Amino acid sequence: MNSEKSTPITWVRNNQDKLVSLIQDLVRIPSVSGKEEEVQKAIFKKFTELDLEPKYVYPDIETLRKSDDFFETTSFTKFGYENRPNVVGILKGTGNGRSICLNGHVDVVSPEPVKHWSHDPWGGEKDGDFIYGRGAGDMKAGVASIILAIQALKETQTELKGDVYIETTIEEEDGGVGGCLYLRLTQPKTDAAIITEPTGNNIGIAGAGIMYFRVIVTGIPAHAATAHFGVNAIVKMVPIIEALKTLNKNRQEEISYKYAEVDPRMKGKATTLNIGVINAGDWPSTVPALCILECRIGFPPGETQEIVINQVEKTILDAANKDEWLKEHPPKVEWFGWKAKPHEQNPEHPFVKLLDNNLRKIAGIEPTYFGGAAGLDTRFFVHHDIPTVIIGPISEKTHSTDERVSISSTVTTTEVLIGTIMDWCKDEKN
Ligand SMILES: [Zn+2]
Repeated sequence: MNSEKSTPITWVRNNQDKLVSLIQDLVRIPSVSGKEEEVQKAIFKKFTELDLEPKYVYPDIETLRKSDDFFETTSFTKFGYENRPNVVGILKGTGNGRSICLNGHVDVVSPEPVKHWSHDPWGGEKDGDFIYGRGAGDMKAGVASIILAIQALKETQTELKGDVYIETTIEEEDGGVGGCLYLRLTQPKTDAAIITEPTGNNIGIAGAGIMYFRVIVTGIPAHAATAHFGVNAIVKMVPIIEALKTLNKNRQEEISYKYAEVDPRMKGKATTLNIGVINAGDWPSTVPALCILECRIGFPPGETQEIVINQVEKTILDAANKDEWLKEHPPKVEWFGWKAKPHEQNPEHPFVKLLDNNLRKIAGIEPTYFGGAAGLDTRFFVHHDIPTVIIGPISEKTHSTDERVSISSTVTTTEVLIGTIMDWCKDEKN
């Protein structure tokens, strides 16, 4: 051991094995949205070891319902909130400094189809610079980087003026309502926030509006031999699907958003209407009398939910009016699940500049600013006037088979987090 006092950043560089095993530990606890309790217990224990005064915060549905950002998530409908705590901790500053919140979600999406994986999705296997597993990149490595950053500050007895709040939340994959939104409604408001979703150490500054809708078309059942006595609901859905495809094409031509189109493959695709689920029919010899279509529409900052809802409903109504049966029996449209508003963080905000500077100074990275195609928990912070960015490691095959995260990029994220926390929380609140 050398006698020189190590800085938090050198501490992380010298303790990468701790970061690796923490990522592995977290990946090895399955935590598909709705089943977050076990992993939260492990994190609570870790927070206790680090003296972060951890608390479990269980969402209260009635408090949530009063929020403008509320919608009922599908995992709430399925599991409720009884066994689904968020965990919050605090690293106290010496006083009067600017505060920060570090946030990560612990839920993951299903690993199915598991048989297509070449690694165990819950194994946390390490191979070279990568750790494999469901949630390795999205976003257990990000959660581990937050914890290691705090541990580094503690181990080196680094003093900060401002408080650092640490949160691990539930159900981000499902809309984040009982997680990040609930904490915004119940926890102290900080002066800035970072979410460590995987960005390849680029800066995420925007999120998409996301909404789900369902179209229900009815027909008349009949035996296939006398199909002309019936009305086929699947066939009647076809012109509606065609109309929605045209709407999507027109919207993609009209709407652009530079931060969503940074990747050349995203050019002209800042908004998307996805035909996601279709349910109809149960027998080849029966004319189906019911067809249900479910879709997701995503849109970048610039449009409101009302504009999008009106466009979709008008498109469906216009298509229905061209068909005699549908004109008499109009399709029903229901909006369900995800109902997120888009958001954009001003990239010129001093907090964003400070993070940008740390990426250049510590990691030699010239960050790209991007966002606006996916729905993110950041919106809850930004809607509460908290400057917030996303920065995290390199994740590959996120939500797919053989998801993996780069260890070296997670080390970089941790170092940049430390630099940013130190710069931000050393200054007095003004
Ligand atoms: Zn995520």
